[in-house]
Amino acid sequence: MNAADLVFLALRGATALLCLVAARGALRRACLPGQPRPRRWRARFGAAVLLALGVFALEDGLGEALGRPGEPLRWRSWVWVILDLSIPAQVLAVLATLRQRDRLEAELAQAARRDPLTGLPNRTGFTEAASAALAAVARDGRPVVGAMLDIDHFKAINDGWGHAAGDVVLREVATAMRGALRPGDVLARVGGEEFALLLLGVDTEAARPLLERLRAAAAMVPHPGAPERSVTLSAGLAPVQGLGLAALESGLRSADGALYAAKAAGRNRVVLAG
Ligand code: GH3
Ligand code: MG
Ligand code: MG
Repeated sequence: MNAADLVFLALRGATALLCLVAARGALRRACLPGQPRPRRWRARFGAAVLLALGVFALEDGLGEALGRPGEPLRWRSWVWVILDLSIPAQVLAVLATLRQRDRLEAELAQAARRDPLTGLPNRTGFTEAASAALAAVARDGRPVVGAMLDIDHFKAINDGWGHAAGDVVLREVATAMRGALRPGDVLARVGGEEFALLLLGVDTEAARPLLERLRAAAAMVPHPGAPERSVTLSAGLAPVQGLGLAALESGLRSADGALYAAKAAGRNRVVLAG
């Protein structure tokens, strides 16, 4: 075997290896959840073609390099070697692009559900997370409570100390509340200075002290420029009765009514619906 035979065999071996890697990548993609059936079969067919090409390349490389000692390789053989090598290389490049697209789609989907200022879920994220949590908890017959919370006189903070100071208060109130809740409870920023909360596995009786804890957590947030004042919030709570989106919306509507009652009664308090 001369040097040219050796290079030929190495290129054929590389083609076979790339075919194997590309076929594995295509099959893995076909197994991803949510892939439609036709796409799965296309990926399987593509993987089979790649494996066949890999076997052919290896067999051809061994045949050319070992089978005809001393005979020079024709230039056409070299062209085929390069063309065959480029096929799995192109497939791998396409698979890498698809993986990058999947990552971007996942990031976009996550961004569409998250409030960038506080890092909490937004209204869309809340509805999704709350519906899933509600289904899991209410199936076991455990109680669920919905709450609406709103920072008091927040406009005065913006007007007095600027929008940036208002943003800091919003972020810190969100962090303080998140820190005072259990991991399973769903908290979201659903409006300017308005938050929605789903408390799982507690009734309204047990939820009240939890909301008082959130009020106390918000009061620890420093008031911008006026240390003698504290940030206060009002909250309304109501039971969420039943499964599904309609039950969630109905519970939160009642909680919103209770929030208005808390505002009307002088703010900085928790009011139970009804
Ligand atoms: P109340 O006690 O009745 O709730 O009064 P409030 O001043 O808190 O409520 P109001 O609805 O009058 O004002 C809410 C303000 O929140 C007005 C709006 O400019 C401000 N706001 C909304 N979104 C943001 C935000 O992302 N950042 C900041 N800094 N302010 C915001
Ligand atoms: Mg407010
Ligand atoms: Mg408001």
